[in-house]
Formats: sequence, C-alpha cells, structure tokens
Amino acid sequence: MKKIRSAIRRTQSTDALIYRKLSDSRRKEILIVFALSLSETTSSKLAQADLTTTRSLLRSTSRDRDTSSPVNSSAITSKINKRNDETATDKQKQSGDVNGSVRNASLRSLSTSSPSSTNRYWDREGRSTLSSRILADSDAFNKSLASSSIYDTSDDSSEGLCGLRNIGNTCFMNSVIQCLSHTSELTRFLKTKTDGRSATKDQRILVEFAKLIRDMWTANTRSVTPSELKSAFSSKHRMYSGCQQQDAQEFLRFFLDSLHSACNTGTKGGTLEIDDNLSDNKKADLTWEWYTKVENSMIKDLFVGQLKSSLKCTQCGNTSVTFDPFWDLSVPLPSSSKCKLESCLDLFIKEEVLDGDEMPTCSKCKTRRKSTKTFTIQRFPKYLVIHLKRFSETRWSKLSNIVEFPTGDNELNMAPYAANSSSALYSLYGISNHMGSTAGGHYVALCKHPVTKKWHEFNDNKVHDSSESELVSSSAYLLFYERA
Ligand SMILES: [Zn+2]
Repeated sequence: MKKIRSAIRRTQSTDALIYRKLSDSRRKEILIVFALSLSETTSSKLAQADLTTTRSLLRSTSRDRDTSSPVNSSAITSKINKRNDETATDKQKQSGDVNGSVRNASLRSLSTSSPSSTNRYWDREGRSTLSSRILADSDAFNKSLASSSIYDTSDDSSEGLCGLRNIGNTCFMNSVIQCLSHTSELTRFLKTKTDGRSATKDQRILVEFAKLIRDMWTANTRSVTPSELKSAFSSKHRMYSGCQQQDAQEFLRFFLDSLHSACNTGTKGGTLEIDDNLSDNKKADLTWEWYTKVENSMIKDLFVGQLKSSLKCTQCGNTSVTFDPFWDLSVPLPSSSKCKLESCLDLFIKEEVLDGDEMPTCSKCKTRRKSTKTFTIQRFPKYLVIHLKRFSETRWSKLSNIVEFPTGDNELNMAPYAANSSSALYSLYGISNHMGSTAGGHYVALCKHPVTKKWHEFNDNKVHDSSESELVSSSAYLLFYERA
C-alpha cells in the first residue's frame, strides 16, 4: 500500500507540474475535454455498477503545499481503463491548475468492476424505478426538513445512546458513524427513509446506513453490529474489505461521497463559461449553480461549502479567483504544542507564495509569475467538518498538539475566514478522537445528544457519559460543527 501511495503521489505531482507549464489555451482545451468526459461520466453513472472514486473530492480542500495526501491512495483501484485514466489525469491536471476558470471538486474518475455475486440487491433488483424513488426520497427529505423535529416523539432521550460493535479494527468507521448519526438533519432524513431498492453499490450503502441509523435510534438499544454496512461499503471501496485500521477522515470522505452518489439527482455538466468582468460574488454564484446542477443531493446540501481562492500576480497585481466546493476543511497545526483552533484556521487562510516551479501563469502578463494565493470561505455549509492534520503525508508521524476548539453553542465564529462579511456561528456536536500513534491507535467519538444536549463518549460498543469540559484533548482529529 505504501508503494502504491508513493507512486500515486509521484504521478500526481508530475501531472501538476506538467500542467503548470502548459499554455493557457492548452489548459483550456484540457478543461473542455475534461468537462465533456464528465458529462459522459455523469450520464452513465446510474447505468453502471461502477467503482466511483473521487480523487479530487478527497483533495479538494487539503491545504497541502505539495498538493498530495495519503487520503488519495484509497481512491486507487487496480482496474482503471484508459478512458477513466484520462479523466483522472485531466482532473489531476485541473487540480494542479491554480489559475483556471473552471474548477470543481466533485469530479469523478471511474473504473469498472463486476458486481459482486454476494450483493444481495444487485441480481434481484431492476434499476428502472430507481431515479423516481430517489427523487421521492429527496422530496421526503425536504418535507422532513420543513417539519420541526422527529426527535420529539416517544422516549427519545434513550435513543441514540447505542454503541457499535467492533468487527475487526472498525473503530475508525464506528467513530465517524457516531458523529454522522448525531448530525441531526441527516439522521432525521434517514429515520424516515423507507427502504428501497438498491441498484448500485452506493445505494446499497445508503440503504444499509439508513437501517443502521434506525436501529441506533430505537429506544433502549444498547449496541448494534454494523456488519451489513461494512460489507456494503467494502464491496464498493475494496481497500476497506480487510481488517486494517483506516483513517477516519479518509473514510468520511468516501462514505459521504457514496451517500451523495446514491441520491444524486444532478444532470450533465457541460462547460462553465464565466465572464471575467463579473463581480467575484456573481462568479461564485454561477459556479455554485453549475456545480449544483451536476452534483445535487441532500448530502451535498448538508455538508458542502464553497471555497474561494485568489491568485495575485506580484508583478502586475492582477488577481484571478476560482471557486471550489469543499466537503471539509483540512487545517494544518502550528508548531506550538498548544494552540487555539483559530490559529489553525489562520494558517489555512494564510497567504501562500507560489514561486519557482509553482509559479502560475498570470492571465495579464501572459507568462508565469511569482504569485500569492489566499483562501477564504465563500459559502458556509450547514455542517462543517474540520480535519486537524495530525498525520504527516507519509503517516510516519503524528502531531499531538492540544488544539483548543470552541465547544459551546455558537462559539465557533467563522466570520473572519469568510470571503464576504457574513455571520457564521457554529456549535460543536461531534468529535472523532484518535488515540495512540501512527503504528497503532484507536478511535472513539464524543457526541452531543440532540434532545438532552448531553455529551457521550462512544467507544465502539461502549457508551459513557461525558461533559463539555472533557472534550478538548490532544486526540481530537475530526470536529463536527453545526451552523446556527
Ligand atoms: Zn501579472
């Protein structure tokens, strides 16, 4: 696996370098070819039982100066056909393009795989009713959003206090599932979702997840075994089929991507043409509209935000902006042993100088120039996941800094990181903690009950009371915030 990871990293950085050296017109050509391949990809999505991977999704917001992440490796499958390989390459090139006008983070590379004979849904179920059912699900979801709460029925204070049995190093999955289970609008949707057919692997994952959530939110259930979900997930994402410990953030991204794909009602993308004279906000809106047309699901509605990156030429001062969707923010940790979360976010938006090999082409100077790059948040998601980058690229080392993050209601103020002056207050509701080292570790979750507002620790099948004062620790790895 390590070999594959490093090979992938090499390929990616080479592509990025090659791409930076291309002329603007050549880059445009590549983007158009890529957009066309995306259209095909999207239209064939429901017709294939494919292994969909989202490399750029995985890397969309990682503020890695070397643009690669160990996360990417799991997107790699052995059978990548030529067409898909080209897609991946173009996407990679696009990721390396810091000056392009068309960017998006949920472009997929596809590879084919035969449906598993053990998949109990695949052989039996036709696909014809699929789209309408999913649309109906979306409707139900929208209606359920409009209603007040479904927690306020029955004996809900004991619901959700349900452990998940470890079925072979699955604590990474258990901790993420617990955090997602405490994502109230997601759980509200899944609790009311009727089981349907699952023609694709992603849909099977969604169905199994919904079942699991319903079991977890049944009063007085102490623990459940997530083996059906694990099996559905590993049939789609093969690297999860064994019993190895995995990275929680990587799992989260794959998992959300599968849930999203399972109920994505988006249609063909086409190219995005944006007049450079428009205001930044108008450009952002058009990019978002375009993205939403292609990638449209309740999962996207809950978790995806929009990042603005501004590239400024140090020679002529010309600034170009691009807008990318993000599913979480991967923030670096400062060198101090103790810091505030705000310091990590400051590092995330900190101006970066692109020089030497990294110099982008200035659209005004028509040549590669030393430039500065800054990030701000254009559009805030309803649920914001912050990933504290404790692991090095190679995962050989882990940072154990204490990051003091806001734990109370509306205590995280994201306004300083906004592209426009807007209020963005968030409340913490879940934490995925990683204890131990890179060699061996354990994940647990700390989650806030949506009804009682009490904190509980979910350590696989064991559930304990916790409290707000115990939340901050050097183990915090993923932070789940809900917007006020
Ligand atoms: Zn310039």
